[in-house]
Amino acid sequence: MKFSDKTVIVTGAGAGIGKATATAFSQAGANVVLVDMDEERLEEVRADLPADRTLALPVDVSDADAVGDMVEKAVERFGHLDVLFNNAGILKKGSIAETDREDWRSIMSVNLDGVFYGSKAALPHLKERGGCIVNTASLSGLGADRGMAAYNAAKGAVVNLTRAMAVDHAREGVRVNAVCPTFISTPMTTEMEEDDETREAFLDRIPMGRLGEPEDIARAVLFLASQDAGFITGVNLPVDGGVSASNGQPAYEAA
Ligand code: NAP
Repeated sequence: MKFSDKTVIVTGAGAGIGKATATAFSQAGANVVLVDMDEERLEEVRADLPADRTLALPVDVSDADAVGDMVEKAVERFGHLDVLFNNAGILKKGSIAETDREDWRSIMSVNLDGVFYGSKAALPHLKERGGCIVNTASLSGLGADRGMAAYNAAKGAVVNLTRAMAVDHAREGVRVNAVCPTFISTPMTTEMEEDDETREAFLDRIPMGRLGEPEDIARAVLFLASQDAGFITGVNLPVDGGVSASNGQPAYEAA
């Protein structure tokens, strides 16, 4: 897949899935705009990519004005915008009984409002280029986890917002899709991965028998953003080693 002369914004590019995807887009020839709140990590990622095709912007995706500026700066630097990867997200655990209003708002504002702000600001530019949006939703947006109510609600909204934007903007030539990862080894999940019981429970539930790597998601995102996916829009693609193929019932050992 070639992205030469394409400009791609990747949010949450300082770590994990965003970092791997930004790197993959850059290796495929794209101009890449790296966006993250963590300036130090942003600088580390930027330093490894070609200076003439990379722009790093410290932005909080839950700040609508900052996100508007982010899109304008990307277009100012590279002349156009072709792909917006709305990937920045945060995870906080808890049932609604365990979630206070502040945590609810922060999960909604980063995981959901950020997608709205970015997409709204980018759309006029994407329309000019027949561009596309890829969102990072989650398997947690396709079904419920235990003890992740706010995250489930935010990611579920991203799933249906992806469909709504796809339907609304298809005739303007803008495609909108999402990836729905299962457990991916990133800084977000380090604590869970280091807990033996949690890691083994996930390994047991993932038919392919391994945790995902950020590059597994990056490859799916590049496909959805490429011309090879030119007739695909409104899809929430599980990238999950087969988890969503199972109905969740335990194995039955015949007597
Ligand atoms: P990660 O390792 O924590 O990386 C996310 C990056 O986004 C971090 O650098 C983070 O900075 C940044 N970020 C957080 N809030 C931001 C904001 N308001 N504005 C700009 N940047 C912000 O997470 P990841 O695992 O790569 O997750 C990426 C996306 O995948 C998220 O949307 C997540 O919900 C989704 N996802 C992850 C998994 C998984 O198993 N890892 C599974 C399904 C879906 P800070 O570290 O400073 O917060």
